[in-house]
Amino acid sequence: MGSQRPTESLSVYNFGAGPAMLPRAVMQQAQAELLDWHGSGISIIEMSHRSKEFAVIVEQSEADLRALLQIPDNYKVLFIQGGATSQFAMVPLNLTGPQDVADYVQTGNWANRAIKEAKRHCRVNIVANSEADNYRSLPARESWQVSEQAAYLYYTANETIGGVEFHAVPESGEIPLVSDMTSNFLSRPIDVSRFAVIYAGAQKNFGPSGLVIAIVREDLIGKVRQGVPTLYDYAVYAKDNSLYNTPPTFSWYVAGLTFQWIRQQGGLAAMEKRAIARAAKLYQFIDTNDFYSNPIDPACRSRMNVPFILADEALDGSFLEQAEKNGLLALKGHRSVGGMRASIYNAMPEQGIDALIDFMRDFANRYG
Ligand code: PMP
Repeated sequence: MGSQRPTESLSVYNFGAGPAMLPRAVMQQAQAELLDWHGSGISIIEMSHRSKEFAVIVEQSEADLRALLQIPDNYKVLFIQGGATSQFAMVPLNLTGPQDVADYVQTGNWANRAIKEAKRHCRVNIVANSEADNYRSLPARESWQVSEQAAYLYYTANETIGGVEFHAVPESGEIPLVSDMTSNFLSRPIDVSRFAVIYAGAQKNFGPSGLVIAIVREDLIGKVRQGVPTLYDYAVYAKDNSLYNTPPTFSWYVAGLTFQWIRQQGGLAAMEKRAIARAAKLYQFIDTNDFYSNPIDPACRSRMNVPFILADEALDGSFLEQAEKNGLLALKGHRSVGGMRASIYNAMPEQGIDALIDFMRDFANRYG
């Protein structure tokens, strides 16, 4: 057996953007149940996805997610594999024909990936972009040039690399609204009824990578265009409880545990409160210490991903090395932007923020 990690105040905090830290209680439950799920004598990993045992997980996980987000009855919850990236294609393939126009807001790396993929499948109109500002702000809703007959309007709720987040759902009128919520899913309450499709990859806020959940309004299902592979048709998942083929059962199970954990913690209102507290503390420290800075427009700073730079980038290597020695892991910024990034999702306890700030203060005192 490897060494046991402490259970309460952790000696290591993982600030990775994803796969990311999961709630300790979830990891412990998964560990305790790993060899024998609920007296079945076998592991969840070894269990048929069509067994009566797994059916319990299918049912419970969806019920918990529906309760958390108060998902209206006219929405399907789909458990899909292929990561959030699969949705970059699945959205246009299910919601457009080749001649249709889809509207996209270009807010950074992940919007760009979605746009690039959508362009392979339909016409894309960029309603606004913040490229000139190096994606450090979000274009004001009033400035968006929406198409008259867009099949949908798409935005990235939180840019994981850039560290910008929409703090309000943009108005879309009659146009179906689609959002990639991969990196802020379940960190705040959301009015699902305003959306046509919401999707989120699991590996930030609720489970192991590979799994993506799509919440899709029923009337939009069943319109996939001709020739699309079976596994890219929302209807195939909607028809069969996402069990057309073998789903990522272990990831699904862990997602279910995380949904239960969030409910036990007080639901999305509690998650939001904690997210606000964590982010406020960290930004406040960065803003008041000359050695560190965060370049993002304060109105749209992400509560989940906090990029920051040191006054002297020659110190980046020492910062990362010493942080790691202090149990503060994976703080290196994305290779495309450099600097540092602290990803602080639902599972990050406030002690993790305190430990990071203590270290940053000490480092600044020694090198600033
Ligand atoms: N969208 C966003 C906002 C992301 O942060 C990521 C992954 N970091 C993706 C999409 C792609 O997810 P995946 O790697 O699961 O395909």
